[in-house]
Amino acid sequence: MEFDSDVSSVVQAAVSLVNATTPGEHGGRPVEAPTGPALTAAVATAVAPASRPSDGPMTDAVAGELAGWAARLRAVVEPVDAGDLDTACARLNEVLRDAAAVPTLTRHDGEGWHLHFHRPDADLATGWAAGMATGLAIVLGGPAVERLGLCRAPRCDRAYLDTSRNGTRRFCSTACQNRVKAAAFRARRDAAPAR
Ligand SMILES: [Zn+2]
Repeated sequence: MEFDSDVSSVVQAAVSLVNATTPGEHGGRPVEAPTGPALTAAVATAVAPASRPSDGPMTDAVAGELAGWAARLRAVVEPVDAGDLDTACARLNEVLRDAAAVPTLTRHDGEGWHLHFHRPDADLATGWAAGMATGLAIVLGGPAVERLGLCRAPRCDRAYLDTSRNGTRRFCSTACQNRVKAAAFRARRDAAPAR
């Protein structure tokens, strides 16, 4: 299946934001949630591919709010990964309500009419939260839910969205995929009888 490119980019941004702002493990190393200027920089980088020039530069306040939304989105991805779609959908419905996600046709900055997922008067963080929650809702409500999960590599819990054509990716990164492949190779080699 193919993702609509707008949905794909906003869900990718959500996954990047969750990974950039929530503690856990990445590639075998513990990850602490960034704070202060590091948090602002991490949030700006995570949402950059799906942001618009009119959004302006990322501020500490907006980054802090987005980190709060990201924690709630991670709490959606975790039950998806565990196969508990009931919990994931109930939690995501709460985020959609709290972010006032309202599909709204809009026209600005010289663009044609296009669909926003947030209220016209939403502030930047809430607008982003509404957009990311709606993108995730489209994923959770369809076959693409199989493509959302947490990295299968040992000592890594980062989220991923598999946008590959064949949909067989199970790792947050090629680094984790290679780590697991190398471990499997070593295990096979060590298990082979000596000649
Ligand atoms: Zn990983």
